[in-house]
Amino acid sequence: MSLFRKKGEQTTHQWYVTALKRMIDGDRDGAFLALQEAVKGGKAPTDAYIRLGNLLRERGDAGKAVQIHQSLTVKTDLTKEEKIELFLNLAEDYAHLGNSEKSIRILETAVKTLNIKDPAVFMKIAKQYHVLRNKEKSFEALREAKKYGGVGDRELALYLASSAERLLENGDSKEAKKLLQQGLKHDPDSAPALMMLGDIAETEDNIDEAISKWRRAAVLSPQLAGPALQKLERLLYERGKFSEIEKIYHDIRSARGGDETASLATAALYKKQGQDEKAIELLEEYLAVFPESIKGRLLLTSLYARHRDSDALDRFLDESVRQSWETKPYVCQSCQFQSDAMRWHCPRCNAFDTFTTDYEI
Ligand SMILES: [Zn+2]
Repeated sequence: MSLFRKKGEQTTHQWYVTALKRMIDGDRDGAFLALQEAVKGGKAPTDAYIRLGNLLRERGDAGKAVQIHQSLTVKTDLTKEEKIELFLNLAEDYAHLGNSEKSIRILETAVKTLNIKDPAVFMKIAKQYHVLRNKEKSFEALREAKKYGGVGDRELALYLASSAERLLENGDSKEAKKLLQQGLKHDPDSAPALMMLGDIAETEDNIDEAISKWRRAAVLSPQLAGPALQKLERLLYERGKFSEIEKIYHDIRSARGGDETASLATAALYKKQGQDEKAIELLEEYLAVFPESIKGRLLLTSLYARHRDSDALDRFLDESVRQSWETKPYVCQSCQFQSDAMRWHCPRCNAFDTFTTDYEI
């Protein structure tokens, strides 16, 4: 009798080890089969059940994952690490089932009872509150995550800017302004916050303030320099202060030599001043480094049309058409949310620094 049981235990252990090896090798289907074998006798280590549940969730069966994970919670011999692992995964199961409330409740209970200081847990809580559109609670959880080193002040400011953007869309600029100013306390160099504060200042007819905020955003952020300069050009032109723009271009190019809008605006200014060859030189240098710039290509086309032969112009246009097909939107690498403008915080999945155009189509 004891011989059989021993043999059985050994098999359970072997299947479990096999599953771990397959996990390490990235063979998740193989690991899934091995774990199913391992738990058959009912004597597998807790970790085997946790992993089996996780794989079920990954395979789209979060309901079954809940069953397995939930059944482990009554075990009395769990270590603290196992308990944490278990609660995190159970919360993840419920998140997958779309039950954010339950997911949050499990995480918050775990934090309290197990004295968890893991920033990843607070990020999960923040994410679920974000899903529920409870931005105060989400922000509170992000602050906790910051306390334990998960995010920094920059991310807190970005989150507040995302929230403010929503408020602005709904016409609540007063509340938006409050959030943005709060954001700047966390990160005085938060370019998205500066941009929106500039927008609000303009609506309040506070022109100097709008100029100073947009200008700072343009100097700080390559991705926001374009929209910021557009606003600045319009406003300065309307106010008859257009000569100030040259100094702003200069500031931006001193901060970042390759800035698109400031470089092209400078070329356009050369052109306006009749210094066409100087403009051509600047644009050719610029396009050698940033071939995707459509605006740069248009401007150079107009200059070539005036100063180069038609063969050179044709060649340049062909190359430009090819290049234009390669322009891509910014995509969040964690949830695939697409945005025409660069973002640093994803409004859909709450991730930070996940947007890029550097992906395969
Ligand atoms: Zn996302």
